[in-house]
Amino acid sequence: MAIPFQRVLLKLSGEALGDPATGHGIHPEAVHTIARQVARVAGLGVEIAIVCGGGNILRGAEFSELGGGRAGADYMGMLGTVINGLALSDALEQSGLRTRVLTALEIRQVAEPFVRRRALAHLEKGRVVILAGGTGNPFFTTDTAAALRATELACEVLLKATKVDGVYTADPKRDPRAQRYEELSYMDVLSQGLRVMDGTAITLCMENRLPVVVFNMLEEGNLERVVRGERLGTKIRS
Ligand code: UDP
Repeated sequence: MAIPFQRVLLKLSGEALGDPATGHGIHPEAVHTIARQVARVAGLGVEIAIVCGGGNILRGAEFSELGGGRAGADYMGMLGTVINGLALSDALEQSGLRTRVLTALEIRQVAEPFVRRRALAHLEKGRVVILAGGTGNPFFTTDTAAALRATELACEVLLKATKVDGVYTADPKRDPRAQRYEELSYMDVLSQGLRVMDGTAITLCMENRLPVVVFNMLEEGNLERVVRGERLGTKIRS
């Protein structure tokens, strides 16, 4: 069966790279599990850009509540995403892939600055492009960075990896009657305040008609199944 996508953007939360019990720090086995899944998809000939979050290290909003300034805390959060990007790059290279880490915050000794055309050239050469540093601006999230980069790099879908298999009517851990949505519109997500991605990210996807698939990446093989076009998780579109 033909693969429906030529180029995808995978959004990984920082938590996915962290200790499975706490979501904190960087857990080598979690990173390698992700790398194996990405390698399978790259093996299909699909171009992959990855935006990594930083919640396993620091979230600006939470940190600033302890008494610091928000903007400074957000820059700390963005630097956390660079650390994650480097860890991911290392694991992907060990899985036999070629990668480039591009960052929205300049740290020239460890990663290339994000330049759209360069990112496109890397993708066309079959390199996995890891996009770190979020949008490079405080008061944003890496979900918004994912929507932004997916749009400017002409990715056909934003694959949002989570720990549950889609978007539910209620928290499935607390409410046994919670039902999974197979499909939602961007407007449903916004008007019902569903906690999939923040409003800025969803709005950007809506304005650019970028479909989003929310799926459980903890189950090995799921990333490949989504990329092969299987109906997994929840699809968000207009
Ligand atoms: N962040 C930011 N601007 C961005 C992206 C991220 O300021 O464009 C900061 C923000 O403090 C955020 C942290 O980096 O809390 C980590 O990103 P995020 O919370 O999106 O990570 P995730 O929840 O996906 O692990």
